[in-house]
Amino acid sequence: MQRAATIPLQILSLPSQRYSCHGCGNCCRDFTVQLRDADLEKLRSQDWERTLGDVTVEFRGRRFLAQRPDGACVFLLEGGKCRIHAEFGLEAKPLACQLFPFNFAPDAGAAHVGISFACASVLANQGAPLPTHMREVRRMADAVPELVPVRTFLDDATEATPEELQCVAEALDGWIANKAVPLLVRIDGLAWLGQQLSGARFTKVRGGRLQELMQTLVQALPQELPLHPVQPATRAQRATLRQAAFFRLEDPKIGELRRVGRVRAIVGQYLRSRAFAKGSGVMPAMGDRWPSADFAAIDEVRSLPDSPEWTACEELLVRWMRATILGGRAWGSGYYGWSVPAGIQALALNVACACWLARAHAAAGRRAEPALEDLRAAIGRVDRACGRAPWLGSRAEAMRMRFLRVDDGLRRVAAAALLNLD
Ligand code: SF4
Repeated sequence: MQRAATIPLQILSLPSQRYSCHGCGNCCRDFTVQLRDADLEKLRSQDWERTLGDVTVEFRGRRFLAQRPDGACVFLLEGGKCRIHAEFGLEAKPLACQLFPFNFAPDAGAAHVGISFACASVLANQGAPLPTHMREVRRMADAVPELVPVRTFLDDATEATPEELQCVAEALDGWIANKAVPLLVRIDGLAWLGQQLSGARFTKVRGGRLQELMQTLVQALPQELPLHPVQPATRAQRATLRQAAFFRLEDPKIGELRRVGRVRAIVGQYLRSRAFAKGSGVMPAMGDRWPSADFAAIDEVRSLPDSPEWTACEELLVRWMRATILGGRAWGSGYYGWSVPAGIQALALNVACACWLARAHAAAGRRAEPALEDLRAAIGRVDRACGRAPWLGSRAEAMRMRFLRVDDGLRRVAAAALLNLD
């Protein structure tokens, strides 16, 4: 099937990022795959009913690949291989399975091809350079007829041109990649930019003026930030950080939702989120993919820069942020249709959540300092949820962002998460 409108594909241009599938099967254990009509047709023609019974499940009006009681895909074989792939080949699989870890985020000028850090190979930076996947990605894009130009906004009323989006992305990427500035300052600067740009009106700051503004802001950051030293986060800000981290971990499975019913599922989520906000006692169980720890033990874990693997952690954090910005996943269709400033704020909060969760993961493993494996686990969970979990694009999340915009909240929670600043 050909796309209804032609939109050029732009694969993530980040030479430091590599990927090839190493068949670990993590994505088949972890994701719930929604099926398109074309996928359902393919599955029917493969006649699985005879051997496996019903391989799809309906939930709230949509069809998904069925899962085993442990949440893994019904087609997952021993050793991590896919049964559809083994019997019928790669192109016989549902499109989402073929595409992962790549994803499409169209704006008005191009469909950006980003990459998900929920994939173990992407996190570990293993495999081939990304442009070598372009032929396959192009084939898959041709099977997505709804891949058409999408509008992206600078504020509620101002639509961004592709050139403006590119200049914002380049300015941010230049800041994040700037090794002359310590990473802690770069993350603080990202949070500061998120706070400053939100609420601004861009009607008169267009084209070259926007480019000038972004360059001026980014160049001023090293002098500006020390004039406004970041203060320890307040209790309410810390509670908001823990709650934000909770919503990035939350992962209801269809089987579980059907078993407990809608009302109990909502009440359960509310109680768990309250427990995270309170931050005392033991962290509520978050499924078998995230270990539990005592909140007090998390506070005891030293900061990420104290990690013996800080250099590798730094490389990962920078690669993740750059891949998010350059892969079109920070705003617009790549992030719930949010405007550019709202997306920058969300990115800063996502980084803060990943740093806090890395310390939570270290606490669960009884490590005094976070290790690279803790940060990988944390970024994997946060990136898995971002742009995908509906509640992160909800009004409640937008309110959380609004709360963090005042009183230097975003900078404070980023520092609290990264440095354990008390
Ligand atoms: S998580 Fe990544 S490496 Fe593992 S099976 Fe999925 S795509 Fe392949």
